[in-house]
Amino acid sequence: TWSAVPAGPPDPILGVSEAFKADKDSKKINLGVGAYRDDKGKPYVLSSVKKAEELLASSHPDKEYLPITGLPEFTKNAAKLAYGAESAPFASNSIAVTQSISGTGALRIGGAFLAKFYPHAKVIYLPVPTWGNHHSVFRDSGLEVRTYRYFDKKTVGLDFAGLKEDLQNAPEKSIVLFHACAHNPTGVDPTQEQWSELSDLVKEKQLFPFFDMAYQGFASGSTSRDAFAVRHFVSEGHQIALAQSFAKNMGLYGERVGAFSLVTESPEEKARVESQLKIVIRPMYSNPPLHGARIANAILSDGALYKEWEDEVKGMAERIISMREKLYDSLTDTLKTPGEWGHIKSQIGMFSFTGLQPEQCKALAEKAHIYMTADGRISMAGLNGGNIEYFAESVDKVVRG
Ligand code: PMP
Repeated sequence: TWSAVPAGPPDPILGVSEAFKADKDSKKINLGVGAYRDDKGKPYVLSSVKKAEELLASSHPDKEYLPITGLPEFTKNAAKLAYGAESAPFASNSIAVTQSISGTGALRIGGAFLAKFYPHAKVIYLPVPTWGNHHSVFRDSGLEVRTYRYFDKKTVGLDFAGLKEDLQNAPEKSIVLFHACAHNPTGVDPTQEQWSELSDLVKEKQLFPFFDMAYQGFASGSTSRDAFAVRHFVSEGHQIALAQSFAKNMGLYGERVGAFSLVTESPEEKARVESQLKIVIRPMYSNPPLHGARIANAILSDGALYKEWEDEVKGMAERIISMREKLYDSLTDTLKTPGEWGHIKSQIGMFSFTGLQPEQCKALAEKAHIYMTADGRISMAGLNGGNIEYFAESVDKVVRG
């Protein structure tokens, strides 16, 4: 029956982890997948998460199904975290929101809802480059995927002029995807002034902004600073779509906790939109998983746990920032590696787009047991006090050829 099914290519990111696992060398480093590691290189369970789990275990909650749109307290608190309690649509109960299977699920629900109900051409513009899965998610949701310029290889920074030109030339009312903060894979974000300009451009062209916020708190260490773009657009009157993930900022990767929301005109419109979100979700997976949403909600709704969580997010962000500084110092001061490395310090969030070429990445894997995606992206969280020097020296060697 399946003789005509061709073997598919391995996932470009998860495939890196496979290669890493197969390598038996003790010096090996995995800088592929974007999961936080502590300074010993170990997966990190936040202490606020552990406490939330203890609280939950001691209350012996039941295992009944959640409603189709998830745990109501959780979705309300997730929206509050993203939009801010003082946001007008939040305060007036006009945000339609549903729990989702982490950020990916939120994007997929959003894509499917837009494919069904967006009243204009069902075209979405994605930045170049972007998280590779965006293309597949939106294509499989039934949207036509196009792209806009984002990253300038020459400056290893934002191609703001190219970005604006491409959005200017997009048909009016097109959907446009923005990374809310900590752009993956480049680590390059617009400044606050540039976001304001983008908000004006989006308004002028009547584009529909869809924000993917997978790293709130992880970029700067502050959940409100990282929500700047989302909150600014909403305060400017944009009715945005938003995908949220709690994978990174709460370290809940495998628990699959997220939310998808749409800003609407009124509580009445919100109710209609939510009724249709249910109809989109029901045949996909019926209703979302319980445990992770309970953990996230316990943290978001308890003053002391919330404070502890905010400190922990800040701690993770700061450790990554300190690795950026160390790596920059090693390459420039200690090793005097040829090239310009300032972007390692200026980039934001989990990833750094190093500028290493595919053959250099290949050489790092083969000669130094260091694994990263072929585009030269490294997960900064994979670096720590024990391996950063070895990493810098290995980079120095491949750059010198
Ligand atoms: N969007 C972006 C930009 C991401 O980097 C990621 C995680 N790599 C996601 C969405 C979704 O992740 P998850 O489904 O694990 O929340």
